[in-house]
Amino acid sequence: MAPVCEIVTIGSELLLGQIVDTNAAWLAETLNRAGVDVCYHSTVGDDLERMISVLRNAWSRADLVVCSGGLGPTKDDLTRQAIADFFGVPLTFRQDLMDRIEAFFLRAGYHMADNNRLQAYIPEGAEPILNPRGTAPGFHVQREGKLIATLPGVPVELKYLTRETLLPLIKEHFALGGKTICYRVLKVTGLGESSVDREIGDLIRSGTNPVVGLLASPGDIKVRIAAEAKNEVEALTLIQGVEEEIRGRLGKLVYGSGDDTLEGVVAGKLADSGKSLAVLDTVSGGGVALRLSREPGNSTKQGLVLSNLESLRSRLGDSLWEPPSASTVQEVIPPLVRKIAREAGADLGLVLLGFPEREEDGLRVELSIGVGSEGTCRAAHYSLGGVENTLYERCTIIGLDFLRKFLMNL
Ligand code: ATP
Ligand code: MG
Repeated sequence: MAPVCEIVTIGSELLLGQIVDTNAAWLAETLNRAGVDVCYHSTVGDDLERMISVLRNAWSRADLVVCSGGLGPTKDDLTRQAIADFFGVPLTFRQDLMDRIEAFFLRAGYHMADNNRLQAYIPEGAEPILNPRGTAPGFHVQREGKLIATLPGVPVELKYLTRETLLPLIKEHFALGGKTICYRVLKVTGLGESSVDREIGDLIRSGTNPVVGLLASPGDIKVRIAAEAKNEVEALTLIQGVEEEIRGRLGKLVYGSGDDTLEGVVAGKLADSGKSLAVLDTVSGGGVALRLSREPGNSTKQGLVLSNLESLRSRLGDSLWEPPSASTVQEVIPPLVRKIAREAGADLGLVLLGFPEREEDGLRVELSIGVGSEGTCRAAHYSLGGVENTLYERCTIIGLDFLRKFLMNL
């Protein structure tokens, strides 16, 4: 059984939102990968009583407690005191830690302030976690088969000490040597979260191995498959079975995996096709062209992108100003797509037309979209509502995805 872990991040700035708790996210991912079951995150300000109460709670429900922050030399750095008080032991001065702290200041060429002496204290019975990257040593306490470890809040120090000291310690303490967790992330677009859930919801159950989860942002959904096994090969085999099932059900809606981005996949297909592309876009704020043009080796022709619409009007006609309705889109858009491609001397044209209009609580856009060449052309119409940023984002994603599907059928 994987040990149940609680991550406790300490610091009032975290509570107030003045700094973002990246340590908790990083620790969670890293510990998870090592075979630890991260079940709780807690955050507490620099307040001794509240810290003790958080520790009590964590110690009662977790086998492993990993704390971050509050190990500095100032009055509001209370983690040492809180852990000592929680276990009912005094803080003890460690000359060996003092020597290291002094040596750190000497090497760095700083004067050591008196209050840095405080950092040489750890709870009686605790083992130090030596910190060559900073002044604050961490420490750990092992009792009742459980383990609590505390690390400095500075992210580079926390990461270094986790890799060098904490992970080996956890693996030994909980005998995790023989376990590993692997992930695979599939990227899906063109369906809402609830529709994806309808397609693969039966695979999303807790307590299964592999376990499948959904992470949704507007227009873009990640399906995460995590498997636990004795080694990586076995974990990947488990993942493969589930991945095939999901790909079978979602088909072309899966545009990539891992670190793939929609624009990266589209730019790759465009490059493979050897075709150049011209974009006319009155709706996404240039989002489609911008994203494609940032991909290495792109062949998007940007001469017409968001260029002066007035001057285009004389050449392209009034349909720019009066986007077609759902029923006329198939007549109006394909000629425009061909015109754009011809004007720009490109092989393919992509047209996104639409003017967002205010409605009661946000915007609505009747989006007409088309992609094609002299030979084939596809067009479609969407009626989309939303708030500004997510609406433009959705138009951009729809544009990119429309292009992706066209390129797949070339
Ligand atoms: P130090 O000895 O350097 O003071 P510390 O253990 O006392 O270390 P904190 O004072 O809590 O750590 O934090 C030091 C800095 O590290 C903060 O100013 C903040 O920028 C960063 N930090 C602390 N906690 C977090 C966290 N949970 N996520 C991201 N950054 C953090
Ligand atoms: Mg500090």
